[in-house]
Amino acid sequence: MTGESRIWGCAVGAAVGDALGMPLEFGPPQPPERLVRDMQSARLPAGTFTDDTEMALALAESLLASCPLDSADLAERFATWYRAGPADVGIHLSDVLRRIARGEAWATAVETVQARKPESAGNGSVMRCWPVALAHRNDLPALLADSRLQSKVTHPHPECVAGSALVNAVIYFLLHNAAPQDAVTQALSTIRDLPPGLLQAVKAAPGLSRSELTNSGWVRHTVESAIWGLLTTYSFEEAVIQVVNLGNDADTAGAVVGALAGAAYGLEAIPQRWRDALRGELSWQPGHTWRAKDLVELASQLAGRAVVGFQAWGETNG
Ligand SMILES: [Mg+2]
Repeated sequence: MTGESRIWGCAVGAAVGDALGMPLEFGPPQPPERLVRDMQSARLPAGTFTDDTEMALALAESLLASCPLDSADLAERFATWYRAGPADVGIHLSDVLRRIARGEAWATAVETVQARKPESAGNGSVMRCWPVALAHRNDLPALLADSRLQSKVTHPHPECVAGSALVNAVIYFLLHNAAPQDAVTQALSTIRDLPPGLLQAVKAAPGLSRSELTNSGWVRHTVESAIWGLLTTYSFEEAVIQVVNLGNDADTAGAVVGALAGAAYGLEAIPQRWRDALRGELSWQPGHTWRAKDLVELASQLAGRAVVGFQAWGETNG
């Protein structure tokens, strides 16, 4: 498998996991004998990605405009996304982005909102963090710094900040050909300041059974589910199927495990039926439907790779 394949797999995998989880969001866990294995329609047509990927693409475009990340530019892109009235923005994120959209500086806005509920630690920054791992795929210190910064713009809780750094560190080691277990081990030894609760959850995750996973909107539960999916399966398809069928915050956990498993197994491992069904629209790009090939191109741009490889892939598989 080529390095390009892992880079493309990370981007397409995140969006595929999001779209596959979309119809299962807020639902109960599926019984093991009746796991959903295909894109299904719900509030959106089958194969459509949601806010998780929309925000990741806003982050990606900010990184293409400025790398290292310009936090003010990122905050403005999130505010533009928010002004269009996205369907499924959470309460915390909505409170922060409403203030930024009114012209408040992001640091003031997020500090004010977090001060009202200091324990708030949702998964809204870990769900979108993967573009940073591609943009800094050869610079681990910069990867960690920008992973943390993109979280602080909306989710400053230590577990949100560290969770984003951890997920992207795992992607970093996967992109450098580490096996899944080795990638997690290396990421844990790289990030020394991981909050104890999150560290314990990550270490314990592979030993859990399906019924022990809550998969809520709490960042710790999302990281737990994603690490569990990566380390207890042997293919992209099975990793994502196992995680989205946990229900609850299915699309977000699907996006995170999709980014990880895509980096682990590469683009070719993502079932063609899912790649073909994948679609989405961005409020700030009216009239353009994003498909898998667009995510491949974006991933190439983020990674600073020539687009030649992407075109070769498009001719045979597009
Ligand atoms: Mg979502």
